[in-house]
Amino acid sequence: MSNAKSLEELEQKQDFIRRHIGPSPAQVSDMLSALEVSSVQELIDQTVPASIRLEQPLTVGESRTEVETLSYLKSVASKNKVFKSYIGQGYHPTNVPHVILRNVLENPGWYTAYTPYQPEIAQGRLESLLNFQTMTLDLTGLDLASASLLDESTAAAEAMGLAKRVSKAKKANAFFIADDVHTQTIDVVTTRAEQFGFEIIVGKAEDAVNHDIFGALFQYPTTSGEVVDITDLIAGVQSKKAIACVAADIMSLLLLKAPGKLGADVVLGSAQRFGVPMGYGGPHAAFFATRDAYKRSLPGRIIGVSKDRLGNDALRMAMQTREQHIRRDKANSNICTAQVLLANMAAFYAVYHGPQGLKTIAQRIHRFADILASGLKAKGIALKHSTWFDTLTVVSDSKNDVTARAIAKGVNFATNHDGEYSISVSETTTRADVAELFDIILGEGHGLSVDAIAADVEANGSESIPASLVRDDEVLTHPNFNSYHSETDMLRYIKRLESKDLSLNHSMISLGSCTMKLNATAEMIPITWPEFANLHPFCPLDQAEGYQIMIGELHDWLINITGYDAVSLQPNSGAQGEYAGLIAIRKYHESRGDAHRNVCLIPSSAHGTNPASAQMASMKIVVVNCDKNGNVDMADLKAKAEEVSENLSCIMITYPSTHGVYEETIREICDIIHEHGGQVYMDGANMNAQVGVTSPGFIGSDVSHLNLHKTFCIPHGGGGPGVGPIGVKSHLAPFMPNHSVINVPGTNIGNGAVSAAPYGSAAILPISWAYITMMGSEGLKQATEMAIVNANYLTHELSKHFPILYRGRNNRVAHECIVDLRPLKELSGITEMDVAKRLQDYGFHSPTMSFPVAGTLMIEPTESESKGEIDRFIEAMVSIKGEIEKVISGEWSIENNPLVFAPHTQGDVLGNEWDRAYDRFYAAFPVPAVAKNKFWPTVTRIDDVYGDRNLVCSCPAVETYRD
Ligand SMILES: *Cc1c(COP(=O)(O)O)cnc(C)c1O
Repeated sequence: MSNAKSLEELEQKQDFIRRHIGPSPAQVSDMLSALEVSSVQELIDQTVPASIRLEQPLTVGESRTEVETLSYLKSVASKNKVFKSYIGQGYHPTNVPHVILRNVLENPGWYTAYTPYQPEIAQGRLESLLNFQTMTLDLTGLDLASASLLDESTAAAEAMGLAKRVSKAKKANAFFIADDVHTQTIDVVTTRAEQFGFEIIVGKAEDAVNHDIFGALFQYPTTSGEVVDITDLIAGVQSKKAIACVAADIMSLLLLKAPGKLGADVVLGSAQRFGVPMGYGGPHAAFFATRDAYKRSLPGRIIGVSKDRLGNDALRMAMQTREQHIRRDKANSNICTAQVLLANMAAFYAVYHGPQGLKTIAQRIHRFADILASGLKAKGIALKHSTWFDTLTVVSDSKNDVTARAIAKGVNFATNHDGEYSISVSETTTRADVAELFDIILGEGHGLSVDAIAADVEANGSESIPASLVRDDEVLTHPNFNSYHSETDMLRYIKRLESKDLSLNHSMISLGSCTMKLNATAEMIPITWPEFANLHPFCPLDQAEGYQIMIGELHDWLINITGYDAVSLQPNSGAQGEYAGLIAIRKYHESRGDAHRNVCLIPSSAHGTNPASAQMASMKIVVVNCDKNGNVDMADLKAKAEEVSENLSCIMITYPSTHGVYEETIREICDIIHEHGGQVYMDGANMNAQVGVTSPGFIGSDVSHLNLHKTFCIPHGGGGPGVGPIGVKSHLAPFMPNHSVINVPGTNIGNGAVSAAPYGSAAILPISWAYITMMGSEGLKQATEMAIVNANYLTHELSKHFPILYRGRNNRVAHECIVDLRPLKELSGITEMDVAKRLQDYGFHSPTMSFPVAGTLMIEPTESESKGEIDRFIEAMVSIKGEIEKVISGEWSIENNPLVFAPHTQGDVLGNEWDRAYDRFYAAFPVPAVAKNKFWPTVTRIDDVYGDRNLVCSCPAVETYRD
């Protein structure tokens, strides 16, 4: 650097890199000496095969400071025009209660948690998800609800899948969709059906009974706003032994009869308008409910009530091993990451407003629709329907004039149906807005007075909801929805739940494969800017210029980082990305007359979503063995590829492998597959060990998904949101998802959608955008290198006490390692579960347990953890090993030791009785470091078997609270 000013600038720019990367330079050199290497480069040379190392650095730009980044992004965001949205069609403006905005959405205690796989330290979000399920059950009128799916349209596709599994119309292969279902839902369900080989029939709702179907989908109210009594339609479908599914508007359900009470078998929809910003399409949670009889077929996760060791109520994910993607190709769906943070926001919205508050909001919305309708009718404007909740559709010759006037006033209507336009009013609509709507539709000087019409509507009542459909039962009667209506009470309720959960703001969460790295505050700031948060996904493109710029830049950077030619940002989780990628592969083969190529090779070590996704793309799965070093067994691969050669569609392979090593043979694997005419799908969940060092495209893969919620800093939100973009080589680019409402540039017209919104969960893309901007090419590469340093240091230290299952070249691991607990278990009877639970007493979340190998822990420290934190984790593991040795030596019996009683709650260690072989203080404070930052699990070990035998998926009855 030639002058002081630029040196200063350089230091500033490096500022974010050194904050993102945990270890200080001194700590790095300590770790390098422990590893007996003289530089980071030497370790990388030992670890990453030379044949896959990038020759050129990334070109995503130089790192920029936090201040620079946010100020540039603000200027980009300000190019978005935030119009008043009356577009509806599944997305509505909402007032996010500020107490929820700040204390949930903007609070790392909530957004940095992981999926509640360790329920004893996740009771807070489990309670909130149980509230979500209870709310779903009350509003839908069904018996069994799950805790959030990805969006309304994919939930509808899941409903179709469930219908096929449970329908007694076994011979039927068609699914009916009423033509007044939201356009994007028809699109997504059609994509899914095509892959499953189902026929889709779209027609007038009344026609459903005239077809041989296994299920049907209705919208309630319809996309154009009509409120139809669907009782007979449902009965008609069921008379054919088919399953009746209803996509419902959550707000309308406060006033309308529950679809479950009208006979529906499945009810689903979006919970967005319960206090979650539209965000140009997402993320939002979908709700899903069905009959108890179908519980084994339910997609996604269910939170259930069980007991802990002391008999207290305790929550957990129910039927965990049976209902999740863990069932691989037998799974009900490939759902892994869902939308927990957003489901929690919606549940809190219901808790905050309570049944009365919600009803008031719904009535107000409905009244505004009535006022609008009444004024328009008085002026001779013809409405398409005579019933409505919040949406009016006008059949009009002057549609173009009206929409032009609307646009001029900064207002959007839904205009995507020929010859008509629709207006959906929302929670944010005011009387002044209604007056403006009259001006737009009628032209100024219409002479209508909103106040006068309102008084009239008030006096005469409304018939816009048919009497037979007026809701007459109580909802949300549980105390959780009736106790926290002051802000003080609400604040404390949110805090109380937050305190029960261990998140990244407490300690490292070293879940292998999940990359729980820093979610920097500066990355999170933009997501709640109104310019990003308040856009409707179907607004005209020229209002979303800021989004297009940000998405365009991110898109180009991801192309650079992955070495692919094109990227789609539509999939809203990694598993959805897998699905989109497999569709592209399938369509590519079809385009070449190779429709018969349907075999997918999957190594036995693969993540469960891989086979679950392949199954959804109707592929035949052939498992490839791994050798004793955890690598793909090359002989077996060659033999299997040979065997299925003619029908080979693709391989799905994770790199570095799920065993945490850079397989040397990866290029050869790609070549073998290509020689047999197959495609390579490289699961990109482990991209944190590739960015800037190598890339899937460079290695020779054809398509990958990335998990922006792993490698690119989107927080896990306690189990979602996620973004799972796919990158593809040019030959697959024509087969990427498009969207039937908003055309996605660069994809073929006619390609179906995989998500409800054209850019999936657009609102959280600024997080990854900001990460890449602030790190720059150099910082991203450093992050990968430090992830490798941290993992190897941790491996080196732990290997003094535990066997490490797999290693790569020079005895190194990639960005994670697998500790084998089986030998200790053999000697002591102490299980990996005991170790995982005991780690909670030490203030740590367990690493990934029993994946990809049973009886092991897979540990991924990421680059964001300092050596100090890693050392504390190592200290905990070593101390736990000492405890196991005391069991082996007989000092403690297998029935009475701190491992089998773990985790310890305050009630447990302070109770009047104490008959343990170890003392109370030791139970809770086994090493001095714990005392400085004690985290108390709030329940003792949870009984999984009891919970599954007695499935309860709504808030426990009031009586149990009184106990
Ligand atoms: C996380 C993960 C997935 C699934 O991603 P989701 O976003 O949870 O759907 C797939 N493969 C691997 C190896 C993963 O670690």
